[in-house]
Amino acid sequence: RQMTTPELRRDFTEFFVKEHGHTSVKSSSLIPHNDKSLMFTNAGMVQFKEYFRNPAVAPFKQATSIQKCMRAGGKHNDLDNVGYTPRHHTFFEMLGNFSFGEYSKSKAIQMAWRFLTEVIKLPKDRLRVTVLASDQESYELWRDQEGVPEDRIIRSGAKDNFWTMGEGAGPCGPCTEIFWDTLNDDLGEDRWLEIWNLVFMQHYRNDQGELENLPIVCVDTGMGLERLAAVVQNKENNFETDVFAPMFEGLHKIMTEAGIESSRDINATPHKKIIVDHLRAMSFLIADGVIPSNVGRGYVLRRIIRRALRSGNQLGFTKPFMTELYPYLLESFNDGSYPDMEARQDPIKDVIRQEEEIFMSTLSKGLALLEPVFKQKDLSGAKQVPADIAFKLYDTFGFPLDLTVLIAEEREWTVDLVAVEALKQKQREQGRASWKAGSSLVLAKAQEWKEQGIFPTFSGYHRDMLTGQSS
Ligand code: ATP
Ligand code: MG
Ligand code: MG
Ligand code: MG
Repeated sequence: RQMTTPELRRDFTEFFVKEHGHTSVKSSSLIPHNDKSLMFTNAGMVQFKEYFRNPAVAPFKQATSIQKCMRAGGKHNDLDNVGYTPRHHTFFEMLGNFSFGEYSKSKAIQMAWRFLTEVIKLPKDRLRVTVLASDQESYELWRDQEGVPEDRIIRSGAKDNFWTMGEGAGPCGPCTEIFWDTLNDDLGEDRWLEIWNLVFMQHYRNDQGELENLPIVCVDTGMGLERLAAVVQNKENNFETDVFAPMFEGLHKIMTEAGIESSRDINATPHKKIIVDHLRAMSFLIADGVIPSNVGRGYVLRRIIRRALRSGNQLGFTKPFMTELYPYLLESFNDGSYPDMEARQDPIKDVIRQEEEIFMSTLSKGLALLEPVFKQKDLSGAKQVPADIAFKLYDTFGFPLDLTVLIAEEREWTVDLVAVEALKQKQREQGRASWKAGSSLVLAKAQEWKEQGIFPTFSGYHRDMLTGQSS
């Protein structure tokens, strides 16, 4: 029998709490608390960031969490990967264990190996690891684990094996990563699926970009739950796991009801994957208090919604459909791991519906403007969308630029982003605001909610995995 994601969440937490005395800590919000350097929480370590620098202030010396993560902006941005790689999401859950001076490399490596090969019983010969070339200690620790021959320990460079949270200041250090062998040579590099990253926080990169040594080596690990599910459920990509099954089923049903032809092959186009991925992302962002807007986090949310709607349009939807999928998202979390998604469903759906109505009315007009462009090349033969068209799509029809780029790339066309940026700058100078009418609708609603106190601010409220209590 295959393990399910609820079982993986439970086994991971129990292993670190019951067998290794870790404190189970709830996921923090997707909006990093008190951290202007980061757009969204992109890893389990974010809520513990200060403890690495100053372990004395940590309320526990070792912790485990299942962290809601978003990688759709900043250094770790996987927005463009979604639907095109087997392993990337915008929103995902990260399983992690952490030590603030309690244990170091040796125990971290040993526990990870034991969890994978004894607790969830992955075959040892389908795992391999990478270490930072200069990190001889990690190399030797892996060599000493049972069932890790030296030809499965790969030394690699800082690009992949030196982890930093973002571009700015923060804790960082060498890491060692564990990969699963899919045995599929057709995938090229992707034959090896990265599942778990163990980071040894040894440095703090300061505002000047210099590396300071931390007082004590700390451990920060992160493993994508959806990837682990794909491995234990023997699937070729994350989207084929139990995490997404209810949403694909729902999408199929909704399409069929709308008279749109739908096959059960989720890999036929990227669009179904984009929709279910982005549905999770937008719902969790709104649940954490993000509201669509034209700047910052709100703009990333808006882009995510609009990309999903355009994918819906590609599938054949002509009317709003996103909120009809919401019950299937709830079904995918029916083990109760995110009770807020149910409790807050009405305001979440309200926001999505409003954005959908705003954008749906201009989407097809915008696409009609773009479509003829692909039929003509300029005299030099360049396949480039003219800047004035991309700007008009952005300004008049509310197409985020990355959406226009996405559409262009599907046809192997490009967009002259520099020229578009110049047009945007010119517009800013003239002081005209873009698509004001549409956005103010949502913002008014947001203001109303704020006044009613519907959205809490910046608190973690993940159910405690062991006690079942939620906060
Ligand atoms: P990749 O090289 O595959 O993009 P990464 O090296 O950027 O992954 P880390 O920053 O090391 O990822 O994050 C730790 C773990 O989180 C990864 O080993 C992976 O299991 C998971 N993970 C990272 N990014 C994503 C994503 N976009 N979607 C799902 N899981 C992810
Ligand atoms: Mg990555
Ligand atoms: Mg990687
Ligand atoms: Mg990694």
